[in-house]
Amino acid sequence: MRHLPIFLELNGKAAVVVGGGVAAARRAEHLIRAGARVVTAFAPTLSEEFRELLDSPGFRHEARDPTPQDFEDITLCFVAVDDEGRAASAWSAAKGAGVLINVADRPEFCDFIMPSIVDREPLTIAISTGGASPILGRMVKARLESQIPAEYGRLAELMGRVRGAVARAIASPVLRRRFWETVLEGPIGERALLGDGRAEAELSRAIERAAAEKAEAPRGEVYLVGAGPGDPDLLTFRALRLMQKADVVLYDRLTNKDVIGLVRREAERIYVGKRPEDHELPQGEISALMVSLAREGKRVLRLKGGDPFMFGRGGEEIEALAAEGIPFQVCPGITAAIGAAAYAGIPLTHRDHAQSCVFVTGHGKDGRIELDWTALLQPRQTVAIYMGLRNVEALTREFIARGADPDLPAAIIDNATRPNQRVVVDVLATLAAKAREAALSGPSIIIVGTVVTLRDRLAPGGRAPSSLRDGGQSAASGKASGTD
Ligand code: SAH
Repeated sequence: MRHLPIFLELNGKAAVVVGGGVAAARRAEHLIRAGARVVTAFAPTLSEEFRELLDSPGFRHEARDPTPQDFEDITLCFVAVDDEGRAASAWSAAKGAGVLINVADRPEFCDFIMPSIVDREPLTIAISTGGASPILGRMVKARLESQIPAEYGRLAELMGRVRGAVARAIASPVLRRRFWETVLEGPIGERALLGDGRAEAELSRAIERAAAEKAEAPRGEVYLVGAGPGDPDLLTFRALRLMQKADVVLYDRLTNKDVIGLVRREAERIYVGKRPEDHELPQGEISALMVSLAREGKRVLRLKGGDPFMFGRGGEEIEALAAEGIPFQVCPGITAAIGAAAYAGIPLTHRDHAQSCVFVTGHGKDGRIELDWTALLQPRQTVAIYMGLRNVEALTREFIARGADPDLPAAIIDNATRPNQRVVVDVLATLAAKAREAALSGPSIIIVGTVVTLRDRLAPGGRAPSSLRDGGQSAASGKASGTD
């Protein structure tokens, strides 16, 4: 983050604007609207743009340049003049007095920058690109202007009026947040947005009801959410909604940090992936933790990589919840093989290549891989192997020993859908050697079948960032030798 976004209290304070042009007038207007007690414009003459400001009781005009004395008791100063000499002397006078200063178009002389503003008083949205592209900031503003109805201001104002009453009626912060969510997402919020005067009376009744119920403990629940393979763009709307509601989040090694960044900021974060001794928290302990957190009345978000029910032990986790009578919901996610296939340009089924696709785990107990080889080696079938990187040597050897063609195309997609995605493409006989050479780090998906050859024609365009596309052509990849 390039700057710290804050909203400044200007009520009763004095500010200065140096300049008499359009930019200076706009800034003076903002200052008056934000409640500044006095705004003094220093400029030999004021342009037409100042006309409406002249009637504001707090507005003054001084037809000269400011001196250091003019900055005593001033909170904020905007300089918007073309003349560099005048800008520099205004800057040093203000700086000497410790005033926060912004010089238009001169970021190196700014203590703060002016964001683009979406004004739904009292709801205010400030947008900054950190000075990188004010035009982009304005485009985002235009988009928000069209998406956030003017009525949101009315809604925020109503909420603000009863905020104190709600705080007195509902002491528990968790219950209070739930109360607000119910109000905003329910009929009262709807009515307020429509400008229906009954909203306020209904809100008062809801507050009275909540005050009467206050003895009741909040009810906790668990959201078992599939976070997809890594790219935050692959989250579902529902996942995002639940992530915004959570009081506490349990995540593991497979959850990407960009995804965690989208969880409600105030939510407590508990890492259950790996402990110092390099072991995952045993499943039983994770389940017990979820149960106890939910019993405290919390909304517990259990984020799982990919889809919770695909090799994710999601079933075991909810079994424990069901046994303890904890309410839960399961939100599906894009499983790694599906994400990997799309971002690597390998369709898992294709009329000319494969009519079926099986998802298996290549994780072997004590080095032994137990798979139903007859089912796997069906013709015109794609096999997607999870947790197979460590065993890729044994896996490919076994495929061939059980009758698979050594020249059968196969690919490994490492860190699929993430910025560091890498793809290794080869044939069964030499895939393991090539994977070793590429020193893949995992997590990886192995895809076996002739669909892999389609990658050359279907390497991702559109959705995948270009770095992913390039990754596919890197030293680690190549054509499926002998097949195309
Ligand atoms: N529930 C998860 C799978 C968990 S098992 C899902 O639906 O995707 C863990 C295995 O998933 C890893 O060993 C790896 O094979 C695969 N995996 C998870 N994320 C991946 C990613 N970004 N790229 C490639 N494989 C991934």
